[in-house]
Amino acid sequence: MRSHLESLEDAKKGHIVTLVELNDVRKVYPLGKTEVEAVKGVSFCIEQGDFVSIAGPSGSGKSTILNMIGCIDVPTAGTVTIDGRKTGGLKDRDITRLRHEVIGFIFQSFNLIPVLDVYENIEFPLLLGKQKPDKKATREWIDYLIAEVGLSQWRKHKPNELSGGQRQRVAIARALVTKPKIVLADEPTANLDSKTGEQIIELMKKINREMDTTFIFSTHDQKIVTIADHIIRLMDGNVIENLRKGVNADAMCASAQAQEE
Ligand code: ADP
Ligand code: MG
Repeated sequence: MRSHLESLEDAKKGHIVTLVELNDVRKVYPLGKTEVEAVKGVSFCIEQGDFVSIAGPSGSGKSTILNMIGCIDVPTAGTVTIDGRKTGGLKDRDITRLRHEVIGFIFQSFNLIPVLDVYENIEFPLLLGKQKPDKKATREWIDYLIAEVGLSQWRKHKPNELSGGQRQRVAIARALVTKPKIVLADEPTANLDSKTGEQIIELMKKINREMDTTFIFSTHDQKIVTIADHIIRLMDGNVIENLRKGVNADAMCASAQAQEE
């Protein structure tokens, strides 16, 4: 496996750095006396800095895959590697740390805390961390994020005083507050009208370019899929298309695995 420093060097030289790797991942859910095979042996890699869409109709396995990348769920078989760490072998404590350090989440239903204002909602994940961050630097960082998502005038407002699009902007800033390498968004536009949904995806793309944060979002909206530079299309728990910058990316995992040896 390549060291973190070697990976950083690669990134500087413009080499590809693999952040997420799924290798022959299966997920089976028990359902009464039978079972549902939600994901049927899926392999792909996601590279640092990419803007990735997991696309497919309802029931195709998008949420199951995002939950495994986000370490909310574990595969029944196969391996998920996040930022060089195989999630299957980690203790609960290490999974929690990996999730806190590497991943930010954006949810379909925004999941903001109603009694907290915009600033406090964005600050919230920092309060869960072990380290007490520097107060002044934290305030500046949160104010920067609030400006970045276009909500400076709404800093003191509570979620019920905001539109759906504004609430999702708060959720984007909250996902970024811990400076994660990866932001996962499960159908972030599903509860928005199509114009607002497109604006939210454009905002995520702007942040992706500016901060080099890797975004992985799921959607069944074809219009939004095409904004991504890496499209992984699912059908019935299988990958049916894997296109990165217009090129078939099936071979990418093979090169990542070769690097490990
Ligand atoms: P999508 O997000 O693309 O709509 P999901 O990943 O939610 O798809 O679901 C994929 C398949 O797995 C579906 O058939 C769904 O019914 C099934 N499934 C998902 N979660 C569970 C669960 N907790 N228990 C049983 N079946 C599940
Ligand atoms: Mg889903």
